[in-house]
Amino acid sequence: MNCMYDVVIIGGGPCGLSTGLALQEKGLSYVIIEKEAIGNSIVNCPLHMTFYSTSDRLEIGNIPFLSQDVRPSRNELLKYYRLVSERQDINIRCYQKVNSITKNTASFTIHSEDRVGNAIPYEARIIVLATGIFDTPRKLEVAGESLSKVSHYNKEGHNYFG
Ligand SMILES: Cc1cc2nc3c(=O)[nH]c(=O)nc-3n(C[C@H](O)[C@H](O)[C@H](O)COP(=O)(O)OP(=O)(O)OC[C@H]3O[C@@H](n4cnc5c(N)ncnc54)[C@H](O)[C@@H]3O)c2cc1C
Repeated sequence: MNCMYDVVIIGGGPCGLSTGLALQEKGLSYVIIEKEAIGNSIVNCPLHMTFYSTSDRLEIGNIPFLSQDVRPSRNELLKYYRLVSERQDINIRCYQKVNSITKNTASFTIHSEDRVGNAIPYEARIIVLATGIFDTPRKLEVAGESLSKVSHYNKEGHNYFG
């Protein structure tokens, strides 16, 4: 029998993390399942990017976020998420991908797998889908799109020089 949670949150981006913090505050049991690292969509942003939002607008769980400039960099935001996760002891399982969900009489079974393909099922009364949109690039469906030298994220231009 799998461990039964009040809530399983799928996606460990800003929305999934703040949902976890809110549930924790209410004393509900939860787990966040994230297929990559926490804040994966932010990880995939350009390396030296500065956000449009000011740091106070990016805070989660009412935990202050101070950055060197009024608008934080990608690295500062990722550091903030790591710090909040650690300090608040957020219950998150990284590098597990949810593949499907089965509805039972009074619960759901969430079917996930780890990086080496081991099946890891979870049971929950409620599911929160916090899978975002930035994580799934809209492909052009053109020849050569899946070559290893093609990236669907703009990290930096350096490698394409010459
Ligand atoms: C270049 C750029 C600049 C931006 N600037 C700003 C800004 O200044 N201010 C601002 O507020 N926003 C900005 N954004 C948008 C911001 O990134 C999103 O609003 C935010 O990431 C949305 O959070 P989310 O938690 O809803 O989704 P996401 O951050 O996309 O998180 C979803 C998570 O779900 C995970 N996931 C998906 N499918 C599965 C699955 N099957 N199993 C397990 N996990 C899964 C993904 O890996 C991902 O980590 C910017 C985005 C980009 C690309």
